[in-house]
This record gives sequence, structure tokens and C-alpha cells, in this order.
Amino acid sequence: MRHLCYSLESEGVKLQIQTYWLALIPILFGLGWLAARWEMRLQDFEDDVEQTKKERSTFRGINLLLSEQHDKAIDALVEVAKLDPETTELHFALGSLFRRRGETERAIRVHQHLSNRQDILPRDRAHAAYELGRDFLRAGMLDRAEASLNLVIEGRYHLPAKAALLEMYQIEKDWRKAIIAANELGTLEKKDYQDQVAHFYCEIAIESIRSKNLSAAKEAIDQALYAVPHHIRATILRGELAIAHQKPLEAIETWGNIEKKFPAYLHLIADKWMKAFTELNRETEGLERLKLHLLEQGSGELLDIVFKHVLRIQGPQPAQALINTVMLDTPSLTAMTKRFEAQYMIAQEGGQEAMIGEIKASLDLLKQKTNSLARYTCSSCGFRAKRFYWQCPGCNHWDVYSPKRSEGIGVA
Ligand SMILES: [Zn+2]
Repeated sequence: MRHLCYSLESEGVKLQIQTYWLALIPILFGLGWLAARWEMRLQDFEDDVEQTKKERSTFRGINLLLSEQHDKAIDALVEVAKLDPETTELHFALGSLFRRRGETERAIRVHQHLSNRQDILPRDRAHAAYELGRDFLRAGMLDRAEASLNLVIEGRYHLPAKAALLEMYQIEKDWRKAIIAANELGTLEKKDYQDQVAHFYCEIAIESIRSKNLSAAKEAIDQALYAVPHHIRATILRGELAIAHQKPLEAIETWGNIEKKFPAYLHLIADKWMKAFTELNRETEGLERLKLHLLEQGSGELLDIVFKHVLRIQGPQPAQALINTVMLDTPSLTAMTKRFEAQYMIAQEGGQEAMIGEIKASLDLLKQKTNSLARYTCSSCGFRAKRFYWQCPGCNHWDVYSPKRSEGIGVA
């Protein structure tokens, strides 16, 4: 009986303890809720700090970019990229900055990272492939550039990728691929690329003439003239092909089109023209026809060539007389130099020792001036060159050089 009472007492204590525990439960819940809230607030605070840090770095980067401090801007933007590695736009901006600064390897790494990511939109992947292609192009890794640019087959970067490929094929002098790219670009842009296509065929024709593959040269010239009828360069080459076939008469007849329609370009063929006329024993006729054009044009490279042939065939007196006539209407440094050249030869022939030294001093000075001033000028980028180019070496544009050489002093 005593034992039973003790047991009941014990049960009562147990029951009391359990009741206390039940009373603690809401308190414990409350404490847990408070702890969770505290942790959330702490997380929010940390996020805010990180966001502020990111924003500060981004704005700092933008400010530095605007103030052209590219090195510092890159450091600031790299910091943001570390805080948020998922930001694609920022990576594109960084890649572009690296490339602009000439750090092509770093640009390649950034763009390669982007193009390998599986979580980005197809649009961004195409963008990354385009930028990567441009990086490889800049680094001179043309095969890899071609492969990367060819991955861009649609979207807003399709057209720039094709344009980059066209540029690359021209650098590589892969004219056949350049023709295909120019035609595709023409269709995409609804723009006429036939002038460029004609030049690409002309490049193929020149290579073929050099390698004595005259049938391939003829085919390329025909294609150039099909792309642009009466194309000046293709017409010149058709005459050169006739010369390669040892048909000077045919060459003269072909170049007659240049003489009639585009006489400003005669200086490009004047030497070969004289050679063809000489082979036909019509040297005087060839020279007289060139002289007529020189009197109309007044100066430029044709003056050098005609003067040289008059000197060779007729001697210094007629050469000087020709220059005097030219200078009546078109005074120029080139003409003045040629006149001193003729006078120097006349003095030499006459054995006028005192005159020789005097003329030589003036002639040397004039030659120096003419050599430094007589240039062809690109109408697109202003690049000045001693010789005429169909494609500007400065900006790579075609047909931007005026056929008329200038002396840069307004008396061309
Ligand atoms: Zn140019």
C-alpha cells in the first residue's frame, strides 16, 4: 500500500514536469522565429552591402570608362564580375575593353567562357561567338576566327559576322571565299557589292596571269566584267592578258576604252601602252596620243611617264618644250622638276660646266620636295601613298583613291 502511494506521487511529479515542458514549447517556438528573423535580416543586410558594393564598382567603372581611363575601368568591372559571375552583359563589356586595349588573350578567355556557358540565351551565345571571332581575327588566328564567325548563322550578329568574314578573306587574300561572302552579305543587306566582287575577280586574274594560267585569268576577267560592265581595272587586265598572249594590237584596242572613257587612269597602263605600240612599230603614234591626254590632265603620274618617253625617243629639247607647254596651264612642282631635269641634260650635252652644278643643286632640292609631296590620297581615311592603290592600305576600302596624284599644296 505504501509502495502504491509512492508510485502515485511519482506519477504526479512526472505529470507536473511534462506540463512544464508543454508550457515551454511556445517560448521555444518564439525564440526560433526570432532567430530566423534575425538571420534573414542579417542576410538582407549582407545582400545590401554586396549590392551597394557592386553598384559602386559598376558606377566607378562606367565613370572611368567615360573619362577614358580604361585600365582602372577594367579593374573596377572585374571586381563586379567576381561578385556576380552570371552577368553576361558585363562580361561582354569586359571582353570588348580587353580587345580594345590590345589584350586579345584576355578578351578571348572572357568570350570563350561565355560561349561555353550552357545557361545563357542562344542570342548571347551567338554574340559570344561573334566577339570571339573578332578576337581571333585581331590575334591573327584566322582559321579559328573563321570557325567562330561561321557559328553565327542567324540573329542580329549574323550580318556583322558575315562582314567580319568578308574582311578576313580579304586579309587572307582568299578571293574566292571573299566573292561568296560579298554576295551573301549583299543579299542580307540588300546592298550592291558588285564593285568589290569585280575587284576580287581582278585579284584572281592577276594571280593567274602571274602563274601563267591564262585561261583562268580570262575566266576571272570575264566574271569581273559581268559583275561590273566596263570595270576599269578589269579592262586594264584584259589588255594585259592580250599582251601575255603576245597580241599587242588587241591590247591597244582594249585599252582604247580606257583612253576614251577613263583617261585619268591612263598612267596605270602608259608604259605598257608604249611597249605595245613599239612592238607594232607605231611608237610615235602611241606617244602623241599620250601627249594629248597629258596636256588635258596637266600633271600627275602621266607627266612622269610621258616625259620619260619623250626624253628617250626625242631627246631633252623636245622634252623641255613639252614641259613648258604643260606649265603654261598647269604649273606644278613635278613639272618644274622635269624642266630642270631636261635643262640639266641639255647643259651636260653642251658641256656647260658652270650651269651643270647650278642646275644640279636646284634639281636635287626640287626632287626632294616632289618626292615628299606627290601622293595619292584616300578619300575615305586620308591615307597618302606614293603609288596608286585600288584598295586603300589604310582603311581597306576599294576605289577610294582618286587617280589624280596631288602635291598637297593645291597646285596639282
Ligand atoms: Zn583609306
